[in-house]
Amino acid sequence: MKGFEYLERELQDMKQAGLFRTLVPLESDQGAKVVIDGKEVIQLSSNNYLGLTNHPRLKQAAVKAVEAYGAGTGSVRTIAGTFCMHEELEKKLAAFKHTEATLVLQSGFTANQAVLSSILTEEDVVISDELNHASIIDGIRLTKAARKIYQHVDMASLESALKETQQYRKRLVVTDGIFSMDGNIAPLPEIVELAEKYDAMIMVDDAHASGVLGRNGRGTVDHFDLNGRVHIQVGTLSKAVGVLGGYVASTRAVRDYLIHKGRPFLFSTSHPPAVTAACSEAVDILLEEPERMDRLWDNTTFFKQGLHQLGFATGKSETPITPVIVGDGAKAHELSDKLLTLGVFAQGIAFPTVPKGAARVRTIVTANHTKEMLQEALHAFEKAGKHLSII
Ligand code: PMP
Repeated sequence: MKGFEYLERELQDMKQAGLFRTLVPLESDQGAKVVIDGKEVIQLSSNNYLGLTNHPRLKQAAVKAVEAYGAGTGSVRTIAGTFCMHEELEKKLAAFKHTEATLVLQSGFTANQAVLSSILTEEDVVISDELNHASIIDGIRLTKAARKIYQHVDMASLESALKETQQYRKRLVVTDGIFSMDGNIAPLPEIVELAEKYDAMIMVDDAHASGVLGRNGRGTVDHFDLNGRVHIQVGTLSKAVGVLGGYVASTRAVRDYLIHKGRPFLFSTSHPPAVTAACSEAVDILLEEPERMDRLWDNTTFFKQGLHQLGFATGKSETPITPVIVGDGAKAHELSDKLLTLGVFAQGIAFPTVPKGAARVRTIVTANHTKEMLQEALHAFEKAGKHLSII
């Protein structure tokens, strides 16, 4: 069909720059090893931190829910699509997070959008870390509030932004808990101190910290013992929790407000029973199987140290996300391709997902990796890194 030549030209440019990617379909479940193109490889790109995507109890909960309640819900939550299990999950999450209430949305992405697009008006301002996730950036694009961006985790820059915005009614400081491309943790105690000093509110996107940081994976706020001092926590059910969805943990007023004004919540059909039941089971497992988190962190230390010892640049990572920074976008994809031939799936990530000149292969270990798998992956990194003169 004619009409899209302008897109084809742009795609052609991307191909020439070595930045055009095709999707990589898995032929297996999301395990520590996956099958790609008929070959079993070590998976270092998933967010399945605790290995819950294929936990027998989650699968069983999903199957039982399908049998009892069907495949879909047939409506948005606010019309006819709220099932008892949706509200049970929300109560369970509120108890888990030690907040008054939670609201579950279709994804972490839409949870950020729902909050940021609805709770602020032109009288307010949102103050955001420059490396916050795309869903925060897009949420901010949708708000009528003024915007201020502060330099990444730079508290002097945040303080300036707070000083310059004292005329606004409400000020909302928003930060990722764990930054998804660098694996560093936001300096939340300092952010809280500053926000309290300047009477601002705080929102933390805990997508990568849900199930990873804090007691039983309660997140960044719990990790830093700041319960009750952060106004809004957004969690995801799509990563460590192993299924799909996002939630906003805050006060009852925020929940009720989002039910009325959160557009992704209002205008998109609710989670199917299988998803809801599996998420609910996963929260129980977070409480009952803390050894998964221990294994995750043990693997994190082992793999990170291995990459350091090989001489790779891994930035400021403090979490299971460890970037191997190579600079050039085409080089990152070359490293990723080479690793795949050596039996390791670790995706290259380039501009615009990360800044120009900071392209990387991002690695993520999980609780399900064995030391042998990680050692094998380190050998592959060594071979590929030397082959491409990165180390
Ligand atoms: N926030 C951050 C920091 C993320 O990394 C992601 C996922 N890439 C999201 C939000 C969105 O979460 P979900 O996948 O549940 O939509």
